[in-house]
Amino acid sequence: MKRVAIVGFGIAGSAAARLAPEGCTVVVFDAGILRCSSRVATGLVNPIVLKRRRAVWRAKEALEAAHRMYPAEFCSTEPIYEVLQTAAEVNDWGALQDHPALGEFLGELVDAPEYVRGLKLGMVRGSFRLRIAAYLDWASQHFEFSKDPVVQLRQLDSGAWLINESQEFDSVVLCEGYQARWAEHFWGDLGFARTWGQGLRIQSTADSSLMLHRKHFLVPEGEGIQHLGSTYSWGIEHGDLDPPKADEGHTQELLKSAKSWFEGEIQVLDAWTGIRPTTKDRRPRWGWHPELKGLGLLNGLGSRGTLHAPLLATELWNSAKF
Ligand SMILES: Cc1cc2nc3c(=O)[nH]c(=O)nc-3n(C[C@H](O)[C@H](O)[C@H](O)COP(=O)(O)OP(=O)(O)OC[C@H]3O[C@@H](n4cnc5c(N)ncnc54)[C@H](O)[C@@H]3O)c2cc1C
Repeated sequence: MKRVAIVGFGIAGSAAARLAPEGCTVVVFDAGILRCSSRVATGLVNPIVLKRRRAVWRAKEALEAAHRMYPAEFCSTEPIYEVLQTAAEVNDWGALQDHPALGEFLGELVDAPEYVRGLKLGMVRGSFRLRIAAYLDWASQHFEFSKDPVVQLRQLDSGAWLINESQEFDSVVLCEGYQARWAEHFWGDLGFARTWGQGLRIQSTADSSLMLHRKHFLVPEGEGIQHLGSTYSWGIEHGDLDPPKADEGHTQELLKSAKSWFEGEIQVLDAWTGIRPTTKDRRPRWGWHPELKGLGLLNGLGSRGTLHAPLLATELWNSAKF
């Protein structure tokens, strides 16, 4: 029986733990939820970069893996809809349905509801929302879980890995998110360019039951409460910081954006922030250390953690040699 340690239990660590090969004993280390970006994420599994009207990197296979991995009870049955305000936008949506990479995700056009200032809504085919905190709570119950931070990690002469000078493992997979302390220690510069984002919990007079996007997302939480987000900002130099405090400028940016297409009064109830493990080339970092046997990595998921984690965790384990 191989002993595997997963360091970090956000969306990356949960995928790596759940997809570990049969016959492995998995132990998860997660220092706590305060710095866990997955728990503040909206949880949208979206194969399109809506602002640029292009498909996300490896969208089709990632979406298939995501549909296979997430239990239906944590997934919305409704897809995302893009708000199209002008005739030109509606025409473009129709024309792009023939695009080789993007077309398969551009679904039907439906009428915009009365609380939306727009002509039509374009459905994003295959998209859904993962109720990510509930999913992580559920997934965590299946593994031995340590709330200790990993503060010491070294390889013994035997090849085994020693965590916090007390527990030995055949393999360690680093899923630390933006903090990436051990990933950067063993791999060196991984090309992170971390970004932070802010979301709002709002109450509005409009009856919004759809997940809508125009520049930002408006996602229903039930009983007139909606989730509005998220902003995107550079300027996080190190991985060892707490997320910045909610910022009035970001609140105003979100409200301005929503008011450009959303009818009705909006009352802000709450604001929160998180840090994304983004990279300069916008590509994830996953695989096994070229020299240190048994040391794996799944990080750099940027703003698409829910979409890419299942596919990349599958590939990580398919290429494992131990
Ligand atoms: C406001 C906002 C909205 C977002 N919305 C979406 C969205 O709708 N859809 C989407 O796909 N993505 C979204 N994202 C991006 C998403 O949050 C990330 O892609 C994803 O959370 C990254 O997951 P992760 O598992 O790599 O990191 P994390 O979720 O940050 O998990 C890493 C975990 O590792 C633990 N850890 C780190 N170091 C150690 C250590 N030494 N010892 C023990 N534990 C450690 C941390 O405590 C943490 O719990 C959003 C991000 C933000 C900020």
